[in-house]
Order: sequence, then structure tokens, then C-alpha cells
Amino acid sequence: MSVYDVIVIGGGPAGLFAAGVAAEQGARVLLLEKNRRCGAKLLITGKGRCNITYDEEDPRRFCEYFGRQGKTLLTALYSLGTAATVDFFEQRGLPLQRERGGRIFPAQGGASEVLKLLLKYIRQAGVETKTSCRVNGLQYEEGCVRAVETAYGTFAAATVIVATGGLSYPETGCSGDGYRWATDSRHRLTPPQPALVPLQLDADWTQDLLNLNLKNVNITAWHNNKPIAERFGEAFFTRHGIGGPIVLDLSALVRDALQRGPVELQLDLKPAVSVELFDQRLQRELAGHSNRNFANALSGLLPQLLIPLFVQLSEIPAEKKCHSITKQERQRLGRLFKDWRLKVTALDTPERAIITSGGVSLADIDMRTMRSKVVDNLYFAGEMIDLDGPTGGFNLQLCWSTGYLAGISAATAAKKP
Ligand SMILES: Cc1cc2nc3c(=O)[nH]c(=O)nc-3n(C[C@H](O)[C@H](O)[C@H](O)COP(=O)(O)OP(=O)(O)OC[C@H]3O[C@@H](n4cnc5c(N)ncnc54)[C@H](O)[C@@H]3O)c2cc1C
Repeated sequence: MSVYDVIVIGGGPAGLFAAGVAAEQGARVLLLEKNRRCGAKLLITGKGRCNITYDEEDPRRFCEYFGRQGKTLLTALYSLGTAATVDFFEQRGLPLQRERGGRIFPAQGGASEVLKLLLKYIRQAGVETKTSCRVNGLQYEEGCVRAVETAYGTFAAATVIVATGGLSYPETGCSGDGYRWATDSRHRLTPPQPALVPLQLDADWTQDLLNLNLKNVNITAWHNNKPIAERFGEAFFTRHGIGGPIVLDLSALVRDALQRGPVELQLDLKPAVSVELFDQRLQRELAGHSNRNFANALSGLLPQLLIPLFVQLSEIPAEKKCHSITKQERQRLGRLFKDWRLKVTALDTPERAIITSGGVSLADIDMRTMRSKVVDNLYFAGEMIDLDGPTGGFNLQLCWSTGYLAGISAATAAKKP
């Protein structure tokens, strides 16, 4: 049996990057992916647009977004930081652009262009790729991995990088296999948990608003009549509730609060103006349409899709002429814009989480190389390690940086006599 220098398990962003980088170092690399194609999850990132990274070049500040354990990412970020990531894609012909809130996306196209670029990168670097090739387990000998068992036979390796991702969106291939191999070989595991999860609402109309993007809105989560957190940015309705970047970023706090009692969201659709100023705007708008039906007077204030719902929730008859709307009715309508209350019933199912928090304990990984402290020639990269960031491109950067470091380290170790 011929021996590969590096076998990478998992063809997601972390695995693709690790494989390409290792091959560029001159290593003989085999990439194993159980799906028919690599990058199934990558293709759905950023609603198909792929938020590649976040515009923060200082590794120390970038790490802060990963919480208490964030500093462990420093070596990976000094090896490949956000600026180097941007260069990587741009030098290979994919211009990127910075958008609102520091998010960096491809200037044109999206996730499919990112995946195409990565596949070309690994092909040109000389990576041998086997898709539809599920890894069933790892074979060990004297504290090292010696071979990888697959449905298509066993492959021997000098080093192995596991990059099998988390548990959410199982249809993309994530089934927790890497977690199992890690615990089987006595690595500690921080219990994997769904993170960045949409919220389910006590509302039967969300389905009708699936194509509506709420931009520049403010959402405050309330528990026990007290605000627990507030976010400004983008949100959208889902089949059973509400999602989008700001909702996902609130979800961890909402999950904790829900365990203690009911949680309500307060949507402010016009956060740039006070309640009083918005009431004046509403008066002007209604005066400008004084002889029109109320339902026809809202298009200057609301996206078309929301108008029927707001008419219904305002309890103002749709045919009522604007000039006969009472002050009380107008104030009720104003509250919908500035203080729309939505009751949260639960977090969406774990399968719909954007990422899985927890994973292989950092205490068992040498984060200067991504090498396991338990199994000599085993490396980890990507979502399966116990680090997770907020929305905004942080989680993909984690994959690029840890994949890069694991690829370099494994290739270097494999070449040592
Ligand atoms: C809807 C959605 C949108 C997102 N948008 C963004 C975004 O815009 N920006 C951002 O930063 N992050 C985003 N994320 C998070 C990001 O997609 C993940 O953090 C990232 O994909 C993790 O990469 P990974 O390589 O670690 O794992 P994955 O992408 O999950 O890849 C793991 C691969 O391993 C394969 N595999 C698993 N088990 C085996 C096995 N036994 N044998 C062989 N192969 C196996 C799987 O098939 C899979 O292809 C999003 C996530 C979701 C779900």
C-alpha cells in the first residue's frame, strides 16, 4: 500500500484549504469527501453569496470576536490573516468587496465562484481527490494514525487532517463523524451545540414574507420586561419565524433567557427616527393621501409585501379614508413601525443552526500547529474544533486560517525523516 504524506478528510472550506496548502508544500495529498461533490455547505453560505471574511486586519482584535478562547487562534491568524485571505482570492481572479458592517463578499457571483476557485486551486496544486468516498474510521498503531478506512478501501498516510465540520444542515454531509473519531482516540470533546440559530415565533404569517429582507432594522430581545440585548442590521422571516444575521447573533442569549421564561422581540423598522418624529412623518404621509383608502397609503413607508400584514395588525379597516383615521389608530400604527412585538416560542431545530459550537477541546490541540496532543500525526481544522464566532465572515476565516496552518504543519511533519 503506497503511503500519502497527508490525507485530508472532508472537502469543506477547511479541508480544501488544508489540502491545497499541503500540496503546495510538495506533499503527496489525498482529499476524501463523502458527498458526490466538495463544498456543499460552502455553496449555501451568505444566502449563496458567501461572506468570505470580516474586515479586521489586526489578529488580536479579530480574536476577540471568538470569546474567551479566541486568543488560541492567534498563530493561525498570523499564518493566514484576513488580509492574506483577501489576497488569496483576489490574486486568483476573484475580486472581493467590503459591505455594510465590515462583511467581505465576492464583488460578483458568490459561493459557487468561491468553490470553483478552491477546486481549481487544489487541482493545480496536485491534490488527488476522491468524492463519494465516505471515511468509516481511522487505524492506529503506536499512538499514531496509520491509515484511513473508506468504503473504497484503506489508504495509508504519514499524517491525517480531520476537517469534517459540525452537525447542522446534515444534508450537506455533516454528521459528526470527526467528533466520534476524536472521542474514540481519547480526545476531550466540548459538547457540540447548535449556535447562531433562527428563532421560531408565535405567528402564522411568516411564510408569506419569505422573500422580504428587512435592512437597517433594530431588534431588541426582552425577557421579564427587561431588554437583554439589542442588534442593528439585517433580518428576514423564515418558514416558522425569523432569521438573518442580527437574529442569529441574538440567539445564544435568547436560548438562555427562554430557559427562564418567555422572550419577546421588539422590532424597530425605523430606528433612525424617534417615536415622535416618526409620528410626524406618519401624519404627513396620511395627510398626503387624505382621500385615499388607508391600505393604499402605506407604500412610501413599507415594503409592498408587509402592507397587508400591517393593515391587518393595525386593526384599521383597509378602506377607511386616511383623513378619518383617529389619533389613537395612528399611534397604534406607529407602534407597529417602532415597537413591533413578536413572541419567541423556541429556537429553530438544531439542523437549521448556522454552526455548531463546542467540538474537539482546545486543550487537546496544539494551536500553534493544529496538531493533536493525543495522537502524534493527527491534525484538526475548521468548525469541528471548539471555537465559534458570530456572523460576519468569522467562521469561514476560522476555516481558512486553521486549514492553512494544519496543511503547512502536516506537510512539514510528513516530510521529516
Ligand atoms: C446556511 C449557512 C450559511 C452560512 N453562511 C456563512 C457565511 O456567509 N460566512 C461564514 O463565515 N460562515 C457561514 N456559515 C458557516 C460555514 O459554512 C461553516 O463554518 C463552514 O462551512 C465550516 O467548514 P468546515 O470545512 O469546517 O466544514 P464543512 O463545510 O461542514 O465541511 C465538512 C465536509 O466534511 C465531509 N465529511 C463529513 N464526514 C465525512 C466522512 N465520514 N468522510 C468523508 N467526508 C466527510 C462533509 O460531507 C463536508 O463536505 C454558514 C453556514 C450555514 C449553514
